[in-house]
Amino acid sequence: MLQLKSKIYILFSAIALLFAYKTYAQHSCGTTHNTILSAAQASKESVSKAFENQYYTLRALKGTNSNVLQSIPVQVYVLSNTSSNFNLNTEKEAISRSISHLNRLFNAALFRFYQIAPVRIIPTTHNVLVKGEEQQITSAHYTPNAINIYIAPSLLNTALTSICGYITNTKPLQSIVMQRDCMYNNSSLAHEFGHFFSLLHTHGASNIQKTRELVNGSNCASTGDGICDTPADPLITPGVIDNFCRYNGAATDANGDLYRPDTKNIMSYAHKACRSHFSEQQQARMFHYFQTIKPLFSGFEAVPSSIETSRLDTKLSDVTIYPNPATGTALHIKTDVTEALNYSIMNYKGQVFSKGVVYNNTVNLAHLPQGIYLLAVRSRTSQVIRKFMK
Ligand SMILES: [Zn+2]
Repeated sequence: MLQLKSKIYILFSAIALLFAYKTYAQHSCGTTHNTILSAAQASKESVSKAFENQYYTLRALKGTNSNVLQSIPVQVYVLSNTSSNFNLNTEKEAISRSISHLNRLFNAALFRFYQIAPVRIIPTTHNVLVKGEEQQITSAHYTPNAINIYIAPSLLNTALTSICGYITNTKPLQSIVMQRDCMYNNSSLAHEFGHFFSLLHTHGASNIQKTRELVNGSNCASTGDGICDTPADPLITPGVIDNFCRYNGAATDANGDLYRPDTKNIMSYAHKACRSHFSEQQQARMFHYFQTIKPLFSGFEAVPSSIETSRLDTKLSDVTIYPNPATGTALHIKTDVTEALNYSIMNYKGQVFSKGVVYNNTVNLAHLPQGIYLLAVRSRTSQVIRKFMK
């Protein structure tokens, strides 16, 4: 009976994993090390032995005294396209589940997050948010003394590839922007919270250059993520991890040692379904960092929970396109903006099909196969994205 149970469990897990790969594999994290490096640096410098001892003492008490958990307010905003099928109650339930899961992952770091006010809706005409555009939102919708989370239907980085989430430079506290499906995958939200609390990726500050951290750990404090109980990580990607979350890559470090990265670490680029824990020193680091920003959470005043209705505007917000669905080989752009405009056409994965200057308020679609596309129209100072079908 037990055997059958465990077989069923393994089968179920494998199916769940496969499903998760399929759904989320294409999105990566959009947080760049510049955003966190200063925070991480500040944290490293300010981490005193006293903080560290405090963490380990409190952690030891956790089993008997729940007061050691530090309660941190969060405010969730949902960007909602008013024309989309959107059920606020379903969304609220999913958000609550997501935050409960976050609390399980952060329990050992002694954090407990709670919603300071009900979820707020920001109506928008945009289906897609491009990294940087959130400034228009955060300037109009921001709750001080709380971690602000913004959920967008779809997120792209500035190279227009799909991303799961990122932390912003919003002052005084950084905010977290999440792509909607990633908000609920039980891994990406915790990953961005890790960045918020100053953690780097386990492969270090660069997503391009291989880490200089050695497998033998001799330079762990000064390279990689600067944390010594996370093994050297050569930037693991789903391609070098099997369906049971085991690393099967053959890369070696400068000494010729095979890497043995932690494929379950939340701050890695492993499959999102594999990522399930922070290391002890990562937890201590987050705890330390929180002590340095703690004053920013004080003096919170409750705000009315009414639903906000202001719109997300850009200078190009009047752009409309027609005919949609496109019937011929041309898509027309209507706008009062008179300066020269550039455009690019891409699919939801961020794959660009064509780009150039908008000439005669028209974009040529002759080469495009049938499908659903995004048209990005850019002026010198702003950008809008419109969905169209051909
Ligand atoms: Zn990241």
